[in-house]
Amino acid sequence: MNNRHFQTPIEYLKGVGVSRAEVLKKELQIFNFEDLLKHFPYKYIDRTRFYKIKNLNADMPHVQVLARLTSYEIIGEKRTKRLVAQANDETGTIELVWFQGIKWVEKSIIKGKVYIIFGKPGFFNGKAQMPHPEMELYTPANVKRNGNLTLQPAYNSTEKLKQYSLDSKGLQKLVASLLEQHLKDIHENLPQYILNKFKLTDRATSYRNIHFPENATVLHEARYRLKFEELFFLQLKLLKNKLLRTQKFKGNIFETVGHYFNDFYHNRLPFELTNAQKRVLKEIRLDTQRGVQMNRLLQGDVGSGKTVVALMSMLIAIDNGFQTCIMAPTEILANQHYHTIKNLIDDTFIPVALLTGSVSKKARKVIHEQLEDGSLKILIGTHALIEDKVQYKNLGFVVIDEQHRFGVEQRAKLWRKNTVPPHILVMTATPIPRTLAMTLYGDLDVSVIDELPAGRKPIQTVHYFENQRLRMFGFMKQEIAKGRQIYVVYPLINESEKLDLKNLMDGINTMSHEFPLPQYRISIVHGKMTAAEKDFEMQRFIKGETHIMVATTVIEVGVNVPNASVMIIENAERFGLSQLHQLRGRVGRGADQSYCILMSGQKLSHDGRIRLNTMVKTNNGFEIAEIDMQLRGPGNIEGTQQSGILDLKVADLTTDQEILSQARSCVEDIFEKDPLLALPEHQVLNLAFQAKTDGLSWDKIS
Ligand code: ADP
Ligand code: MG
Repeated sequence: MNNRHFQTPIEYLKGVGVSRAEVLKKELQIFNFEDLLKHFPYKYIDRTRFYKIKNLNADMPHVQVLARLTSYEIIGEKRTKRLVAQANDETGTIELVWFQGIKWVEKSIIKGKVYIIFGKPGFFNGKAQMPHPEMELYTPANVKRNGNLTLQPAYNSTEKLKQYSLDSKGLQKLVASLLEQHLKDIHENLPQYILNKFKLTDRATSYRNIHFPENATVLHEARYRLKFEELFFLQLKLLKNKLLRTQKFKGNIFETVGHYFNDFYHNRLPFELTNAQKRVLKEIRLDTQRGVQMNRLLQGDVGSGKTVVALMSMLIAIDNGFQTCIMAPTEILANQHYHTIKNLIDDTFIPVALLTGSVSKKARKVIHEQLEDGSLKILIGTHALIEDKVQYKNLGFVVIDEQHRFGVEQRAKLWRKNTVPPHILVMTATPIPRTLAMTLYGDLDVSVIDELPAGRKPIQTVHYFENQRLRMFGFMKQEIAKGRQIYVVYPLINESEKLDLKNLMDGINTMSHEFPLPQYRISIVHGKMTAAEKDFEMQRFIKGETHIMVATTVIEVGVNVPNASVMIIENAERFGLSQLHQLRGRVGRGADQSYCILMSGQKLSHDGRIRLNTMVKTNNGFEIAEIDMQLRGPGNIEGTQQSGILDLKVADLTTDQEILSQARSCVEDIFEKDPLLALPEHQVLNLAFQAKTDGLSWDKIS
């Protein structure tokens, strides 16, 4: 809120007092007036009337329909088993679906009877549907009515709160009392012209209506306004940070594209760049000429060729006399980058070094010296790169691969290494949903490689259950006979999870039995091995000395062995979607048709099934990222934890993309026109903004 008033401790609200305040704090993290005001209803109930089936829509709250049950049947087996019933009134038919308690429902409903059917309407294949409705035989006496409110709010509560009479109704009373006494103190925090432009309801009204809506229309308007406000201030913070940074940090100017870039481009680059790669290079080129520090996020699907774009950008930096580095999240990936880059350029062309935790003291010393005298041009490594001992002569360009594993703090550490900070290119491992890109990386510029190199054959993906294992072995032998190599991946070995280790060891046993020496050779890589051991095994596989690589997810990111054409993922149901996609991306890198086999047990959760089906259905990482977010919610996507988006109270990044885009372009316009927020109509923003930045949550945003 934009005034002190709402920071008043909750015990001072009439009807609360000390002991209730204690439980409110403990159970719901409601410490002050603002927290209570933002404890929004999780659903609304409309018991004032019966809706006609043809008038139902998916935006509605929980409503009641009066309809006759005409038929029902149980369909599907085991995991997909459900009871589906049809009911109709004079305007149409609605499908009622139960996944749980099927037996009980079946016993209690009677064909041909009229029911009061209560629930949240939805649509499936264009047909009205209601999952898990409450059913009550209709009699004139049991028709329920709300008081004078059309939509009854329902609040989350807990058993403990109920002991203090703070169930949904009790909380409703508190909110009502808060609004009654303090509604006038809720001040507008958006400029009038923005309210007009987006037809936004004023702030006080919105807070009242989100708690006590008179009808669905005003509820919708209130939610829209509050979502907009929330996303607007998030963007304001992010874009202000970005603006401040461009004002505060000068950037190195890369004036020329010189020998190194040109020689590489004309004589060494082994393939034609895709149009998307060319476009991104141009974007980076423009960024590094402006005299402002570049902070750019490079998004691209697995295998879209981000590495070569990074390398070529680095060559431009080197052409202009600067040093460069690539920071990777794991030693394996750092190694991989090192070898890839050494393959593309040799030492006679440009000196490259690898710096990880396992580099010897002696070698490390040499690297440090060469960094300080400026002779070393490309350094590749893990976070060993940002240790304080590492001093560069003139670091000009930094690539951070798979950045979500680096904290904001670590990024900042790199910037502090020079007075003029280096340009920064952050690359993501797999695509992230658009809304997340706009928030998590909202203070960065974004480039997208939305095109795979020509001639790639889409990876064929299948899902096998345990009883198809023999078939899988047969397929593996067939592929090995063709000269291909195979990955077999197990869930990560985690010290606390003995099960993983057992799975892996059992797997290795079975594999060595099924693929005996000397005909077959197997590499093994897992998290309990030393870096040197891992590298040794990786190299054997890369050189084609082994046929099968049995590994835990340490190989997840970035590994590139073009001759490997089969990826087998064991216990695939235990992996997240983006991890599955990332793993699958390890194959399909050569000219051969590649395959991915997802192995799972017979029993799958609802989400597990969707994940595996999604993988079978599509190869598109952007599409997969969206589904991943729908399944897990934005808060569970890697990298979101330390960001401010978890504090969103009303906006939802999975569904509010449209509002987010509006809010963002609105803020962009404001900063374009009035970067200092000096115009009179923007004073209200300064006020609100100051209040926000005093709070806890807003400063967590990078
Ligand atoms: P990612 O974007 O997943 O990091 P990489 O940079 O590892 O992808 O590239 C994947 C593979 O594609 C590498 O073997 C790389 O050499 C190759 N590659 C990159 N760009 C092209 C291109 N334009 N044409 C053909 N192959 C390419
Ligand atoms: Mg990569």
